[in-house]
Parts: sequence; C-alpha cells; structure tokens
Amino acid sequence: MYLVDVHCHIEMLENLEELIAESLANGIKKIISSSVDLTSMEQNIEISQKFSEIKCCLGLHPSNVLSMNSKEIFNAIELLKTNINYATAIGEIGIDFKHAKTDLEKQKQIKVYKEQLLIAEENSLPVVIHSRYAEKKSLEILFEFSGKVLLHWFDGSQNLFPKAAAKNYFFSVGPAVLFNQEYLQKALLIPLDNLMLETDSPVEFNGIKAKPFWVKKVAEKLAAEKNISFEELAEKTTKNAEEFFGI
Ligand SMILES: [Zn+2]
Repeated sequence: MYLVDVHCHIEMLENLEELIAESLANGIKKIISSSVDLTSMEQNIEISQKFSEIKCCLGLHPSNVLSMNSKEIFNAIELLKTNINYATAIGEIGIDFKHAKTDLEKQKQIKVYKEQLLIAEENSLPVVIHSRYAEKKSLEILFEFSGKVLLHWFDGSQNLFPKAAAKNYFFSVGPAVLFNQEYLQKALLIPLDNLMLETDSPVEFNGIKAKPFWVKKVAEKLAAEKNISFEELAEKTTKNAEEFFGI
C-alpha cells in the first residue's frame, strides 16, 4: 500500500534525491508534477526521465499565459506537442479570473485553455484543471471535453460540485484540509470513488513550503474525518490516480 501525490510542481523544489527519499520513506511512491510554462515543461520532462517515481504533465498555467505574448504561447504549445509522448496528462491548465481582470485577458486564457483541451483530446490524455474565481465558466468549457478530468484543489460552490461529480470528474485535495476547516468540509463531500491526493508543492502553508510527503498527513486527516481506515483511503485514492493517469 502506498500513496500518490497527483499534483505538485517538483521542478520548483530543490534537492530532488532527498525529496524522493523522504517521500518513499513516508509511503509516497509516485509523484505527478504539473508544468506551468515552457521552461517548467522542459524541466519536468528532464526530471521525469531521471527519476522513475516522477511523472510529468505538460501544459500552460492560466496565470502564466497572461504574462506571455502570442509568440511565446505559440512556442510553448509547439514544445508541448513535440514532447507529447512524455506527458501523462495535460496540466495544469484552466482559467483564473483572480488574475485575469479585463475581458481581453479572460479571452486570452480561455483561448489557450481550449487549445490545450483539444490537444488532450487528440492524444487521448487526461487533463489536470486549475480554476479560480472562474469555476462556472471553466466547467462550461470542460463539459465540451470528452476525456478524463481532474479538478485540482477544487474549491467549487455547492451547486457546481454535483454537476462535476455527475460527469465522473475527479477531485484532488491537498494540505489545505489540515489548516482550513471550511475547505475540509468541502473536501469531505467528495466521494472516495472520485478522490485523489495532492500537495501542490511548493505552495506555502503558514509560511512553510509543502513537500510531496505531506500527502501522508492529508490522507491521515481525511481518513480520520471520513471515519475509515488509512489503508482504505490510501488504496482507493492510489487506485484512482493510477487508473486516471495510466501509471
Ligand atoms: Zn499547481
């Protein structure tokens, strides 16, 4: 029995040998690293070739899209297409209206989001979705997508959640469950059949950078709150992750 961190940014962390050893010691055997821009795609490809525990997702993060010009976006998408064989999924992609303020910025994010969904569809790859302050729009676009969907750090409203669950989307939950009671309650709504675990490392919680081995703490917390055994939660979330990503 072991765990999978289905969403982090391993290329933003240091001392990878140590990090992997620490993860393995805590029962985390597989780590899925998402990309955000061209450089991080290149880094993640290299890292996933070097370490068998790490699989990579290729994609452009909606926040990064905002600071890129059309030539940069084109080049990054070309790199993604050329290296599609390295990708276990397309991610992390989506829309984020916290950062996109104007209509022009929103349209820019939506265009690149749709373009990447199409690439996922053409290559039969699952997608890892980031959406913030844009869940309604994000889901509306996703409902046109025919592949497998993981909504990472899903913080959706109560009326959007059932729609996504009805589509059999997956939801990954991270260390926020340890620090935020409101988020924990939302996380507990997710059926075990649709649940995966993540850390979004190196996102900081209380000033401390998360690491993939924190998945163990997330699993322990959720198992206790759901009143099921740690083993049951670990087995199910790992099975979900392995089937979803084909790893
Ligand atoms: Zn992320």
